Amino acid sequence: MFVDAHNHMDFYKDNLSNAIDSINHSNIKTLGCSMDLESYIFTKKLSEYNKNITPCFGIHPWEAHKNYKDLDKFDDYVKECKIIGEIGLDYYWVLEKEKYPYMNLVFEYFLGKAKKYDKITNIHTKGAEKEVLDYIRKYDLRTPIIHWYSGDLNILKKLLEYGCYFTISVDIGYSKLTDEIVKILPLGRILTETDGPNSLEWINKKYGYPSEVINIVRKISLIKNLQFEEVREKIYDNFNKLKL
Ligand SMILES: [Zn+2]
Repeated sequence: MFVDAHNHMDFYKDNLSNAIDSINHSNIKTLGCSMDLESYIFTKKLSEYNKNITPCFGIHPWEAHKNYKDLDKFDDYVKECKIIGEIGLDYYWVLEKEKYPYMNLVFEYFLGKAKKYDKITNIHTKGAEKEVLDYIRKYDLRTPIIHWYSGDLNILKKLLEYGCYFTISVDIGYSKLTDEIVKILPLGRILTETDGPNSLEWINKKYGYPSEVINIVRKISLIKNLQFEEVREKIYDNFNKLKL
């Protein structure tokens, strides 16, 4: 059993059946994050035929400005999903400052629901790590999963103290910062992720299937100087502790 705690099943398009084969062949417990309602419904349908996939509902920060008017339609979906995500803030890739109020509005909507329904969240923090930490504290969230953290190491330590889990992504071995983060984090708070097929392409031009998590486990075991099997088991154990 492996873990992909942040993927996007709707990104595979023509390669979807290969991606599902990859998930089933390596037994990868997969959190299928959504960008918006349409992508949640797509992943939810897939999950009906595949027990390895858990659909997560959220509005991605990049899509917030297109969805903020529809928040009152989302309650049933938030209630039914096991994990809320992908949600968050992005002050790095989103350059248009006029979009920020919508990002904050949508993020706070989901945080309020996460608190109300006691849900785990899958959170994007790019360039807004301090703000996300403040929001996590404000809403007193239960075990948030921080997706592909790449910010300040002091904020990382505060998120760790809070009780967050962290997904290590496909840039391990390519990014000095990610390797440093793996060194800092205790194995008991680490999960693995692929973030869809295009993230690996962005790193090394290879199309990323879910089985890439096996390489990530291997690289974590090298950095932490532990056996592959010990790391694999512990990450699966961490995933089970989320009690989905
Ligand atoms: Zn994502």
